[in-house]
Amino acid sequence: MNWVFTPPAPSSLPVVGTDACYPVQRVFCVGRNYVEHAKEMGHTGREDPFFFCKAAQSVLPVDNTGNSVMPYPSKTQNLQHEVELVVALQKGGANLSPAEVAQCIYGYAVGLDMTRRDLQSQAKDLGRPWEFGKSFDASALIGPVHPTSQLLETGAIRLYVNDQLRQEGDINQLIWPVAEAIAYLSQYVTLLPGDVIMTGTPAGVSAVEAGDVMRAEIEGFESIQVRIE
Ligand code: MN
Repeated sequence: MNWVFTPPAPSSLPVVGTDACYPVQRVFCVGRNYVEHAKEMGHTGREDPFFFCKAAQSVLPVDNTGNSVMPYPSKTQNLQHEVELVVALQKGGANLSPAEVAQCIYGYAVGLDMTRRDLQSQAKDLGRPWEFGKSFDASALIGPVHPTSQLLETGAIRLYVNDQLRQEGDINQLIWPVAEAIAYLSQYVTLLPGDVIMTGTPAGVSAVEAGDVMRAEIEGFESIQVRIE
């Protein structure tokens, strides 16, 4: 292809056990997918799943060294953490069944859906898109991808700030489990290899400040650690 300028390289994630990288196509996020978090955001009852996107360029790959740094973002006084299980697809399709979704999964990662909560709340009040509350530079913190063909249905999920527990839940508390949520998503968009899905956060979201260190854990995976600067 004869481009008018060189296209930037795609966002990528390291993969456990190989030097090859996982290329990120799109980032879809599930809203209010744990009951206790929905309650803390002022909602009750089981809704159909809903989704929002983060730009692929908002992905910041992180690991457990503590050397990953998220610059405190612009235009917010209320940056909040949302620890989430991230699903990475290697195949796509439309109108997938949950069983078909299971065949599309490449692996999983630990992630943080970082949120400018004040901008999101303003947008909600004004009936405007959440976009800039959710999608901004380094707003999708995602750890190395763990390849597996297994459908993940259970496992403790936790978030610590400066070694203090802030969020705690279990993947088995997802209102819309992994395969069902992605099957639902595939009714609205044709999914592609490289699409990643952040599956929602348990209760306990709260603000972080410059200097704080976040550690996110999901049972069975290496934790990730990020410092706000
Ligand atoms: Mn989220």
